[in-house]
Amino acid sequence: MVHPDTELRFVSPTIGWGVFATRPIPRGTLTWALDVLDQRFTSAEIRAMPPYAREQLEKYSYVDFRGDHILCWDHARFFNHSCSANCLSVGYEFEIAVRDIAAGEELTDDYGTLNPIEPFPCFCGANHCRTQILPDDHVRLGAEWNRLARDAFFLIRSVPQPLWDVVSDRATIEAALDDPNRLRPIHHHFVTKRTVPGA
Ligand SMILES: [Zn+2]
Repeated sequence: MVHPDTELRFVSPTIGWGVFATRPIPRGTLTWALDVLDQRFTSAEIRAMPPYAREQLEKYSYVDFRGDHILCWDHARFFNHSCSANCLSVGYEFEIAVRDIAAGEELTDDYGTLNPIEPFPCFCGANHCRTQILPDDHVRLGAEWNRLARDAFFLIRSVPQPLWDVVSDRATIEAALDDPNRLRPIHHHFVTKRTVPGA
């Protein structure tokens, strides 16, 4: 479920739709959390789908650490990529604002953290745009993503969290807030070995 202070807006004919803040969202706020209405598809299920369904799933889903595709039921599936994303995740099934997000600003994440199967060109316009997003970006960028997400994680208790009740592993997260040594790194999300749907 995506943060309630967001809405869908049309960005451009090239990019399509995006998720925008309707109010300021401070760093440390959970901006999305996996919830029971999100759909999970295994590689076997995807192989059995007709091509049009696979195509839509590839466009709107992300791949979790199990190699399953997750299709968000709400406008979270319209999060666009940025090479300077303002939302990232540590090793739990939520995204967190890694800097203050102003009202009217687009919420973005880094598709490199979401186990992309194929390389794709990037036109995000960020100062340090990578121009191409690669399946192994996490090898080069994982440590920096983790630093950003970790710093934001420890602000969780200091900002309003409208999605807190949606989070499934609250006890695990509370334990990590109490003891930083128990914090899962972002690397928890990365699939190192997976079956490519349709292969
Ligand atoms: Zn880019």
